Amino acid sequence: MKRRVFVANWKMNLAPTEARAFIKAFIARYKRSSKRSSKQTVVIVPSAAAITAVVTALARRKDIVVGVQNIHTEAKGAFTGETSAPMAHDAGARLALVGHSERRHVFGETDETTALKCARALENGLMPLLCVGETLQQREAGEAESTVLRQLRAGVSRISQTQMHKIAVAYEPVWAIGTGRNATPADAAAMHGVIRAELTRLIGSKKDAAAIPVLYGGSVNAENARGLLTASDVDGLLVGGASLDPVLWSAIVST
Ligand code: PEP
Repeated sequence: MKRRVFVANWKMNLAPTEARAFIKAFIARYKRSSKRSSKQTVVIVPSAAAITAVVTALARRKDIVVGVQNIHTEAKGAFTGETSAPMAHDAGARLALVGHSERRHVFGETDETTALKCARALENGLMPLLCVGETLQQREAGEAESTVLRQLRAGVSRISQTQMHKIAVAYEPVWAIGTGRNATPADAAAMHGVIRAELTRLIGSKKDAAAIPVLYGGSVNAENARGLLTASDVDGLLVGGASLDPVLWSAIVST
């Protein structure tokens, strides 16, 4: 069975004190097991302010990875309020979300910015989790595939073939994020198939493309997780709202 990846995107929630309490409650439920560690990876992506608290609270739980929600395109400089890839790595992050729909639609992040961020993440030891997905309007206009393909091609346009092996992709239809309306397993399988085919074309090898984790995100909860995980080409889940509760999150990662 292929390795599964579960990513918790806390967005702008859980301050350091709450984050510590979450980790304590979560690791009490999600016990370390070598059998499970060989089958799946769990990633917690707190706000930048809580990365250190989460890393510290995880202590020896090296089986749980920490990520960063956003990095700047530059490595350092006069960019008040921003977090750089080297800083996130130094704080203990090993994965960076890139191109999340809230970054694209609320903060105006462009395809070019996602390309620069993917490259910067890789340069600094962070695995970019490139998020792609169409809006409802684009889906209704029959532009879902072309939108996702454009975002995928642009996101990886500044990285080498070798670096392609170190990325992950998340298909997150914008109409499903935080709306309670998730894509059906069939919808997810269809778009994941499109993404996988494009990864195969970009990387030049079906086997190598199959090794790139392609996650689904958008209103995942403990009830729909299993169905989505059984959809073909779905290697894991990127979860927002339901990852804020340690009980729900434990149930999802134990699916
Ligand atoms: C997300 O923010 O990446 C996400 C998928 O959110 P939610 O699970 O709340 O839809």
